[in-house]
Parts: sequence; structure tokens; C-alpha cells
Amino acid sequence: MSDFDIEAIRAEFPALHQEVRGKKLVYLDSAATALKPKAVIEAVSQVYERDCGNIHRAVHLPSQRATQGYEGTRKQVQAFLGAEKSSEIIFTSGTTQSINMVAQCYGRPRLSAGDKVLITGLEHHSNIVPWQMVCEQTGAELVVAHIDDNGEVPLERIEQHLKAGGVRIVAFAHVSNALGSVLPAKEICALAKSHDAISVIDGAQAVPHMAPNVTDLGCDFYAFSGHKLYAPTGTGVLYGRFDVMNAMSPYQGGGDMIRSVTFEKTTYAELPNRLEAGTPNIAGVIGMGAALSYLQTLDWAAVQAHEEELFRYADEALREFKGLRRIGTAKHSMGVLSFFLDCAHPHDIGTIVDTEGVALRTGHHCAQPVMKAFGVPATARASLAFYNNRADIDALISSVRTVQEMFS
Ligand SMILES: *Cc1c(COP(=O)(O)O)cnc(C)c1O
Repeated sequence: MSDFDIEAIRAEFPALHQEVRGKKLVYLDSAATALKPKAVIEAVSQVYERDCGNIHRAVHLPSQRATQGYEGTRKQVQAFLGAEKSSEIIFTSGTTQSINMVAQCYGRPRLSAGDKVLITGLEHHSNIVPWQMVCEQTGAELVVAHIDDNGEVPLERIEQHLKAGGVRIVAFAHVSNALGSVLPAKEICALAKSHDAISVIDGAQAVPHMAPNVTDLGCDFYAFSGHKLYAPTGTGVLYGRFDVMNAMSPYQGGGDMIRSVTFEKTTYAELPNRLEAGTPNIAGVIGMGAALSYLQTLDWAAVQAHEEELFRYADEALREFKGLRRIGTAKHSMGVLSFFLDCAHPHDIGTIVDTEGVALRTGHHCAQPVMKAFGVPATARASLAFYNNRADIDALISSVRTVQEMFS
């Protein structure tokens, strides 16, 4: 398993070292929100203990430090995503706000009857509902490239929709939060481009496991949530290719996004400020910078090898489990393992494994159409981060066995 020092890594995550319900916590819900390393917790504390000023406003030192931290994170995110300009990085409250911003600021003024927005069958609700809303507002139509039995979206299905004409926006998940399927993002972006559609990638489940390069992907927009990338809640990013994003009008007005204001006419600031009205989550964004700095100290090849090994280990253990059905068997998957027990409702699985200290997510994972495609009301989902180890998987299997014994 390479020279990856899992114990040293685990020591950086305080939340791992606690008991819940009298048992050692086994955290297998990082796809819902990831635990935070000490460096992030300390960076957030430092903002409130020392650098507590508003950004872009005052000349006093706390404000200057906060501004430096906030704008420093923007440069870090730019480097992390391989973006050309730091002004292509907008801070939001999360993937949800990022996608809504594209739908309202890019989509709403440009879509009309006869236009289509294409999504896939494995999207999170936050990559479905904002598009439904903008379609209702504009008369455009929402069309769906459906998943196959493995939980993959064949490229031909995307191409078919594009060939039919009228598609202006293609929005899709880089990695599915319900199934772990990885979509061929670069190929989808190229297809979109060749049919004059813009591409919007929901990268919420990709960024914790890989470093996506937006230039290489060729996407127009890339959205993710800080809190799934070991950073504080209430933080997120929207990357937008400069020319495309620069043509967007803001959908929120307020402080920090203007150049000049009179009662007769207001002119807007340049990117990125134009799309960041009001006081943002300063401490959270500075915490995101600390998360990125922390990630940079890790050997990513070793991190990925560790995650892949653990994923295979968990996948094999679940597949060998009699009476358990794995949901989502895409050839290229990562991070997320969904399953269903013949004998027990997923909600009961979640409740019972919780008594053994195992934190799983059970439910529809904000992806009800995916559940419908597999004909199940819900699944149990174990999701991995690099701080997980084989003992966590063993605890999962043993707790699921307890559930099975109770119900049979
Ligand atoms: C979590 C998630 C979202 C929504 O993110 P928020 O942080 O709740 O805004 C969207 N898409 C995917 C794939 C996700 O996993």
C-alpha cells in the first residue's frame, strides 16, 4: 500500500478520534461532508481570534489580513483547477449556489422556447432543479441522457441528444454522489462544444479524489463544494471560462459588486467581484485555502493508490456478502459504494449500524431519479476519503452482518 502513512494522516483529523454511542467512530459519510484536518480548524479560529475584519474595505490590519487570506485562496483554487485567471474563480456557498448562478445568470437571459438543457440520469437534485426552474422561466426544455444498468451514461446517448439539435447547455456530474460512477467529462465537453453548447460540470464528488484540470477538460463551468474538500461548510466555488462568465449579468446586487452607484444608474465591478455581492464567508474561504495547502503536503499518487486499494477492498467485501445487492457497477467508479439488503429497509440499516458507531448515509442521496432507475426507494451508501482504512471497512461489513442477522 505504498509509503502512505495512514496513521499520521488520521492524527490530523480530530473528529476521527471520538466515541459515538460508546463505540469508536467509523466515518463512512465523506460524500455528504468530509471531516476537517486540524490545519483548517486552526485557520478558521485564527480568523476569528486575530484577523477578524471585513475584506476589500478597510485599511486596518485585521481587514488587510482577511483580504490577503481570502484573495490568496482564490489564487490557490485557480492553481488547483488549472484555471488561466484568478478572476475565473467565484466563491459561493456551495455547488448548489454555483449551479443556480449559472442557470440564472447565464441561462435565463439566453434560453427561450425551442432551446434545450441536457442533463444526465444520475444527477444530484442540485443539478436538476435549477435547470427545471430556468426552463419554466424561459420556455426551454429539459432533456435527459439516461443511465444504463451499470449506472453509466453511454456517450452515444449524450451525442444523440446533441445531434437532435437545440441543446444550449450540457450539465453533468463528474462523479455521481449516489453511485460513484465517473463520467467521461473531457469527451462530453468536446461533444458539447462541437454542437455549440456550453458545458457545466458538477464536480462536488470529483474534487476530493482527483485534481480536475479545467483547461484540460475544456469545460465552460466547473462547480464544487468546499465542505466535501475538507474545508468549512458554507463554502463553494464556481469556475467559469473568462469570456463566457464575463458576459453574464449578476443575479444578486449589493455591496462589493459595484463600481459606482447613484439612484439613476449603477455600474458593476469587474470579475470576480461582480458575482460576489455582500460579505462572503470569509473565515470559510480562508479555511478552504488551508485545506488546499494541507492537501498539497500529501503525496497525491500515494493518496490515490490508497483510495483505489480501499475502494476495491470494500467493493469485494460487499459483492461477497450474500443477500446484499450492489447498486451502481460502472467500470470507472470512485469514492462511493451504494448497496441494498434484501431483508431490511435502508433506513433500518442506517439506524442499526449507527448503534455500532458506523456513520453511513441511507436514503435517496438527493438523487431520486437514480433510485427510480434501479427500482429501489433508497440505498445505503458508504463513502470513502483518504483517512479511511481497512478497519473501517471491516467494521462496516460486521455491522451490516448484524443488521442481516436481526432481520432474518
Ligand atoms: C453534495 C453535492 C451537491 C450539492 O452540494 P452542496 O454542498 O449541498 O451545495 C451537488 N452535486 C453533487 C454530485 C453532490 O455530491
